[in-house]
Amino acid sequence: MFSVDVGPQYEGETVRKEDFQIEFGGPKHKFKAEWVTVTPADEVEDEKVEIIGKDIKDFEEGASVPIFIKIAVAGEQLEKDMEPVFERRVHMYINYIEGFWHMAQRDEIWMRLHKDSFKKGLNSLEEIGKVLVMLYKNELSIIEKIQITFITDPEKVEKEVLEARKVYKERDDRLKGITEEEVDEFYGCSLCQSFAPTHVCVVTPERVSLCGAINWFDGRAAYKMDPEGPQFAVQKGDLLDAEKFIYSGVNAIVAEKSLGANSVFCLHSALETPHTSCGCFQAICFYIPEVDAFGIVHRDFLGEAVNGQKFSGIAGEASGGRQNEGMLGMAISYMRSKKFLKTDGGLKRIVWLPKSVKEQVKDVLEEAGMLDKIATEEDVKNVDELTEFLNRVGHPWVTGQA
Ligand code: SF4
Repeated sequence: MFSVDVGPQYEGETVRKEDFQIEFGGPKHKFKAEWVTVTPADEVEDEKVEIIGKDIKDFEEGASVPIFIKIAVAGEQLEKDMEPVFERRVHMYINYIEGFWHMAQRDEIWMRLHKDSFKKGLNSLEEIGKVLVMLYKNELSIIEKIQITFITDPEKVEKEVLEARKVYKERDDRLKGITEEEVDEFYGCSLCQSFAPTHVCVVTPERVSLCGAINWFDGRAAYKMDPEGPQFAVQKGDLLDAEKFIYSGVNAIVAEKSLGANSVFCLHSALETPHTSCGCFQAICFYIPEVDAFGIVHRDFLGEAVNGQKFSGIAGEASGGRQNEGMLGMAISYMRSKKFLKTDGGLKRIVWLPKSVKEQVKDVLEEAGMLDKIATEEDVKNVDELTEFLNRVGHPWVTGQA
């Protein structure tokens, strides 16, 4: 039925840069995204797959192309809250396709098609769409109708991404004001265990998943929709350490789902038994020993971070489902949480950020009095210059006022 094989055995496969026929999204493109909407049934043309712009076969070998994947789903029992949950399944299902690799989420997606799969006949996005239609309908029976549109026309991609970003923000804003103390249940996700077998995401009202795609509401909606699926409920249990945010229920589920590899999570620390990182993080918080503080670098930052490493190098050290003291995969919006790295000193311990991340969280940094205290790639190039910068601006972590 399809030109290549499809199944969970292909999850975890990667496609290296020498091997791809075509690449969609990724750090070379400012605009790329995937977006699922729950849509009235009469507006969804069931199983229709449309391509706006050029298709795989129209590009030269080795092309790198922007993309927007728009999926409309309908069904009597569907709720708006479920959209992010369906959206995260794009990652899972595309990775089921032999020789097709998908990474990250929302407006950060990155996909590659292996030359071997192209040679086998996988030369159209229409086939990817048909696989997605089949998997969504087979695995999520509450979806009654589904329509998929792939856009590769750069101008149209940009327009759609700008719209989708408004919705991502609305989803994130819903959590404002809800605290961990107020709820009995957190949620977890083990969807990325195909890439990082001991990784477990714990999602609380004040800690969005490191991919940024699953917040507490999404975890709750996903668990309600599919209790046997990759998202699960986490009974908080007792607060064993109020400074380190260690909960008995979190520890128990982490131990169970990581098959004993990890058994204690400090929920808001990058230094002591931190949360594990798979590979889907939007950004990485990394310890800079020379200044005893943290830098944060995100996926789309192509230069060298202040410690002289590129994102890919830092990501290699941070990922894999291990607890790496001094390294924490995180969503950028986690910086908006009142509990952001609370155990370690929070925003007051951040000393370096790429300029574009600083722009994204400008309001929060301003509120914390940190906007002009944190260096970017435009201010400093290395740790020596960083030390000089921090002293010059009177960074609170250096002056001891944090
Ligand atoms: S990063 Fe975490 S929340 Fe996101 S899909 Fe992977 S396991 Fe799930």
